[in-house]
Amino acid sequence: MNRLFVDDDDDAKEFRENIRFYNKAVAFTSTGGSGRIMGELFDGRGPPSYKIQGDLYHRLGPLLPDANDAPTYSQLYIYDPTEALSYRMHKNPDRRQATMFVLQSILNEHHPAVPVFKQAFELTQSTTVPEYNIRLELDSSTDRRRYNLPTTQEELAAIIPSDVHPCANSREIIIRPREGGLMRMSECHPAFFSMHFPLLSPSGQWSWQPNTPYNRIGQDDDSSNNDPPRCPCRKRQTISMCKYLQFRLHPRPEYIESDHVFRGRLLFQELIVLAWAAAEHSRLTWVRDHQRTIRADLYSGVMDAVHEGLDPASVGRRIVLPASITSSPRFMQRNLQDALALLRIFGGSDIFLTFTANPHWQEIEEALLPGQNSQDRPDLLARVFHLKVKSLLTDIMEHHVFGHALGHVYTVEYQKRGLPHIHLILFLHPSARLSTPQAVDSFISTEFPDENVDRPLLDLVKKHMVHGPCGSSHTSPCMTADGLCSKGFPKPFQTETTLTGENYVKTRRRDTGKKHNIRGTLLDNRSVVSYSPYLLTKYEAHINVECTTGFDAIKYIYKVRRDTFWKPCY
Ligand SMILES: [Zn+2]
Repeated sequence: MNRLFVDDDDDAKEFRENIRFYNKAVAFTSTGGSGRIMGELFDGRGPPSYKIQGDLYHRLGPLLPDANDAPTYSQLYIYDPTEALSYRMHKNPDRRQATMFVLQSILNEHHPAVPVFKQAFELTQSTTVPEYNIRLELDSSTDRRRYNLPTTQEELAAIIPSDVHPCANSREIIIRPREGGLMRMSECHPAFFSMHFPLLSPSGQWSWQPNTPYNRIGQDDDSSNNDPPRCPCRKRQTISMCKYLQFRLHPRPEYIESDHVFRGRLLFQELIVLAWAAAEHSRLTWVRDHQRTIRADLYSGVMDAVHEGLDPASVGRRIVLPASITSSPRFMQRNLQDALALLRIFGGSDIFLTFTANPHWQEIEEALLPGQNSQDRPDLLARVFHLKVKSLLTDIMEHHVFGHALGHVYTVEYQKRGLPHIHLILFLHPSARLSTPQAVDSFISTEFPDENVDRPLLDLVKKHMVHGPCGSSHTSPCMTADGLCSKGFPKPFQTETTLTGENYVKTRRRDTGKKHNIRGTLLDNRSVVSYSPYLLTKYEAHINVECTTGFDAIKYIYKVRRDTFWKPCY
């Protein structure tokens, strides 16, 4: 199988291009909800990206298909391999039979779920119980891969009475022998990843167990994660799903572990999206089950209702999301209020900076596996971007790139095409405030540099800091329905930088008569996005730097809408 992930021949290329279809053909579970692939965003120029919306769930069918239906998913594993292959090829006529045969044979031999389904089938042949369900033992506390290979004596499946509710919770899987609807499988089940992504974990890798011990190495530095809140005096004993997934998303040397997961292209993207959804689900489940721990009754309004003499039963059950859950209303409100407090203390903000990842950074290109491009490795992109953001903050806060800085707030967002970016607001010391046009011009520019003075900077501006081309002759995501650029480009020429007291300072854009060829169109200073020559040269990425005086920037980064801005959040 490694050959298909690594080699350069036709079979291997075809496999990698269609890896999601091959995976679906051999997966044990199907996807429900509205998870789907979204490609060709932004008039076909964006890379394809896997996107989920709304509720997403994974389903496991009955052990055997209904009389008139063809077997699918897990049902195929109890069929004779030749018959199973013909069913798989019938459903995927465009895929290669030889490749499908190889995948099917490897999984039949090595995947830990296959003997479980086979034994369950044998049980149905020998039982005399008229009505029953089947419990599948896919969650062994021992690791079969290393310690005990399955034997026929081992109990992997069991017949249980049919009146046991056939609902798969996070710890066990109960299926019907035949007929009846699909059963939902929890993302927190240890076998979830290996059953949904058998091509990425053909021998059952990627199985998180809630009781996996947590080995702490080095200093305790947990402040940046989003794990459920816990008592600071208690060290974590077991590893959370989020931490486990973070651990798995690092390629390791070949003698430790194969790197095929990172060669899975769109299937790898799908894995990352579902891993995030699973970790989020795990966190939200914790919050739902620990409302007493987070003292939800103090701020859910239930206590008030009781004091007012209302019947608690009439209040209903409300799940309170604490501010530690990223993007929850309390999280946004807390950060917004903190930012507004900073704005008041520092007497206004000074710099509004947007820093977007550059997928062609040298650090990323050097770490790519042979034949990959950056869109195949969202893990690398996120990791390098995180390090660059840390470096940028050090430059600003400690090396005082814009002068003596007092404080900052920032948010991280992902564009629709998958590139991460931050919006950062910087508060400067009153002595460093950019209060004259000369001070602004010394840090920020909205003009093409002179090619005789700084040719490398001109190339960077042309590459990263020009808006468009947009307008009636170009389709661009910034265009509104009435044919205008929503960002206001091209902006009017401006002979001098002016501080008008408005929210954003108008920096100079002189009419030099010089035009540059940007993606096939001649553009002048009116299309240059405001940038810092120093930061652009150092980071080689889109870094939009604006001089701001008001709090519009704060409202922008915390997505404050007029109707919700003053809404209290208890
Ligand atoms: Zn535009």
